[in-house]
Amino acid sequence: KYGTVGAVALDKAGNIVAGTSTGGMTNKRYGRVGDAPIIGAGTYAANAVCGISATGHGEYFIRAAVAHDICARSTYKNINLQAAADEVIQAKLVAMGGDGGIIGLNPTGEVIVSFNTTGMYRAGINSRGERFVRIYAEP
Ligand code: ASP
Repeated sequence: KYGTVGAVALDKAGNIVAGTSTGGMTNKRYGRVGDAPIIGAGTYAANAVCGISATGHGEYFIRAAVAHDICARSTYKNINLQAAADEVIQAKLVAMGGDGGIIGLNPTGEVIVSFNTTGMYRAGINSRGERFVRIYAEP
């Protein structure tokens, strides 16, 4: 009921969007603001760069500016979005002690995921109608 839902999408004009909705962390302090509504932390999109939506321990995602950092690394280091996401989710966040993951989309419509938890519910569909639904890491 209070779970997190994120989405990233690319339209035919090349616009990339990202959105994240969450009930926040269990037992959160009243008035807490998590990473989901903070652009660059739990949510970020920029045309011709990427779209990212995150779930996880928001305080770490804010501190690490996760969504923006992934897009920035992919642009500035000229690496693909998957590699940039893995640097942030599997290395930077893990070193800080932050749990969670992201879904992402690059300007060609390729969907990527990275998570450092056991699983992350996710699904996608492309312009040809091909779909996927997954929970755990790819086999
Ligand atoms: N990232 C959310 C928050 O910290 C929680 C979640 O995604 O489960 O508010």
